[in-house]
Amino acid sequence: MNVLVTGGAGYIGSAVARVLVQEGHSVAVYDSLVTGHRAAVARDMRLFEGDTRDTSAVRAALQEHRAEAVVHLAAISQVGTSVLEPRAYFDNNVRGALSLLDAMLDLGVRDLVFSSTAAVYGEPDRCPILEDAPTRPVSPYGETKRMIEQVLARYGHAYGLRHTSLRYFNAAGALPDAGEDHRPETHLIPRLLLLAQGRGEPVTVFGTDYPTRDGTCVRDYIHVADLARAHTLALGALSAEGRVYNLGCGGGFTVGEVLAAARTVTGQPIPVAYGPRRDGDPAELVASSERITAELGWVPRHPGIEDILASAWDWMQRNPHGWQG
Ligand code: NAD
Ligand code: UDP
Repeated sequence: MNVLVTGGAGYIGSAVARVLVQEGHSVAVYDSLVTGHRAAVARDMRLFEGDTRDTSAVRAALQEHRAEAVVHLAAISQVGTSVLEPRAYFDNNVRGALSLLDAMLDLGVRDLVFSSTAAVYGEPDRCPILEDAPTRPVSPYGETKRMIEQVLARYGHAYGLRHTSLRYFNAAGALPDAGEDHRPETHLIPRLLLLAQGRGEPVTVFGTDYPTRDGTCVRDYIHVADLARAHTLALGALSAEGRVYNLGCGGGFTVGEVLAAARTVTGQPIPVAYGPRRDGDPAELVASSERITAELGWVPRHPGIEDILASAWDWMQRNPHGWQG
């Protein structure tokens, strides 16, 4: 298939684009580079530099690439910033997605895989979280993703848009040739590894009094290669009724366990401070991914935290300046 990957110059998008190519698809990237990197787009892949809110530019890219399907990852995604700057989040993530959908429907492109998030659930009643758990996003960021899921359901019904939303839990790790380089970096794993490399900001563990095995938060880390593979499966099983799938490994690791594994993998002491909880952090966010396993046969190949950390560490050691050098 000819696939346009929005956000394909970003962390997850650059991995998705590569895995789609490995699976035989013809891929072009559409990205404004607001947080992404030109160098993250593989040399043999066309980059259309543009904003999703520019409907005519999206239309031109879809036409030039003869796109038959879109994987839509382009979004801004910092939970904390979204609380302070909700306008930017609704504008980029909601208006951007509506504009993309307009361009697609104008041209009769009806197949879409959408990047959603565990943040749509907010504070869950129980873990592991099933897809039919209530969605009560706490942050504007999570709200933007829930809104687009709802738009997709309506557009499937009215316009025959064939769609799947993938609710990622904590993406981590790297492909051999594509890793994580957010600036600023807020995610736990790259922050710990940057520190191990001697070029990171100090890291504080947010909260040690949660009702978990060691008092720190539990999160469900999923290898970006496993995440990327789920997109190829989703593309092959789209329907106008639409499907929503969680993507996690179903186990979960505490911040303390991630820290211990990072010390083992890097051989570095990685000193951290211990501080209060971060606002809005639930104690535990763990996915049930049984639905995507049952329906699409997806099974994580790298469920272990050391495997995930080792792949990220390997990419960072070989790319000490990330994508910028
Ligand atoms: P990222 O910032 O690395 O990538 C996002 C990409 O989208 C960037 O290349 C950016 O330049 C581009 N972009 C943003 N707004 C755009 C716009 N209006 N027009 C064109 N391009 C635009 O982020 P990521 O971590 O790779 O996340 C990718 C997607 O996955 C996002 O939709 C995010 O909400 C979702 N997600 C990520 C995680 C995670 O753990 N990283 C978890 C859940 C969901
Ligand atoms: N975390 C932390 N210190 C940091 C960054 C993150 O203790 O500098 C914790 C955070 O509270 C959460 C977990 O690590 O429990 C994963 O956070 P991250 O920001 O990577 O992803 P999130 O779960 O917020 O999507």
